[in-house]
Amino acid sequence: MVQTAITPFSHRLKSPLTKQSINVLQINLGKRCNLACTHCHVEAGPKRTEELSTEICQQLITLINQFPEIKIVDLTGGAPEMNYGFKPLVEAARSNGKQVIVRSNLTIYFMAGFADLPAYCAQHKVKIVASLPCYLADNVDKMRGDGVFDQSIKALQWLNKLGYGQDPDLHLDLVYNPQLPQGEKFSLTADQRSLETAYKMFLQEHFGIVFNQLLTITNIPIGRTKLYLQRHNIYSSYLQFLADNFNSSTVEHLMCRNELSIDYLGNVYDCDFNQMMNLPAKTNDGETLTVSKLLEAGKLDLISEVQTANYCYGCTAGCGSSCGGALT
Ligand code: SF4
Ligand code: SF4
Repeated sequence: MVQTAITPFSHRLKSPLTKQSINVLQINLGKRCNLACTHCHVEAGPKRTEELSTEICQQLITLINQFPEIKIVDLTGGAPEMNYGFKPLVEAARSNGKQVIVRSNLTIYFMAGFADLPAYCAQHKVKIVASLPCYLADNVDKMRGDGVFDQSIKALQWLNKLGYGQDPDLHLDLVYNPQLPQGEKFSLTADQRSLETAYKMFLQEHFGIVFNQLLTITNIPIGRTKLYLQRHNIYSSYLQFLADNFNSSTVEHLMCRNELSIDYLGNVYDCDFNQMMNLPAKTNDGETLTVSKLLEAGKLDLISEVQTANYCYGCTAGCGSSCGGALT
């Protein structure tokens, strides 16, 4: 394929990407994870040690208590359940009536010391968003490691027994992300609604599993996905493919517009992808932010423009992509 210089993402926008009122706080509790998936944008794994400190956790609890405009507290990682601060943050957010989302890899429930998690999440009515990149065992194990599919199935059955996926207070969503491309034959993430129907039929028929929604997420070319693409010499062509499929109607729905993403050190970003790429959020004066600065200022709306980069094409290609699935 002949490579042409990619149009910078910011040039494709009709106007700068403005920040709206903040109502979502996404906290990345750290990089510890029991898995080490090939596509992980966090480059998380069992050997990583970075995680939230008691001091930052306390600041986050104060933030949650102080700002009623935060409606959703979204906990991610690594495996968020494995990193310091998970339960204190769940309890602070729930006692303030906020929705709590945990992005779970499901297999964590089978690690020593974590078997209480499904019942704990049910007790606190935590919404579980669980990765299951395919409903076929081979594809999942290739991406996430041997035996991950079987454990994920057992975990979903366990959650179903507790009422997840059926009780309106116990919401269970699954996340699909495509297999990493083998060559330059790229395709857009499949249509969310049709894929959800296929997942529901297959999982119900073979394993008696029910869930609420399927969220389709595009592989953003950063972290291990970027390393993989570079190793296969297809990084630039993948980025170009995403840029060629830029869909301007996704822009108004981008998740970075109404959320703050916080890292384990308390730094503030516009989204988890920018966090992983060390692209911090900035105020009008060009200052970076931390949780303690937000507390000092007494307000959350200090950012007028979202920081963007070319990997933002991953969120705006085709139907779009976000932590909440497709955008259009
Ligand atoms: S993708 Fe999720 S489960 Fe896999 S290594 Fe990364 S954080 Fe862990
Ligand atoms: S990567 Fe996606 S969510 Fe993050 S700033 Fe870019 S468009 Fe927004």
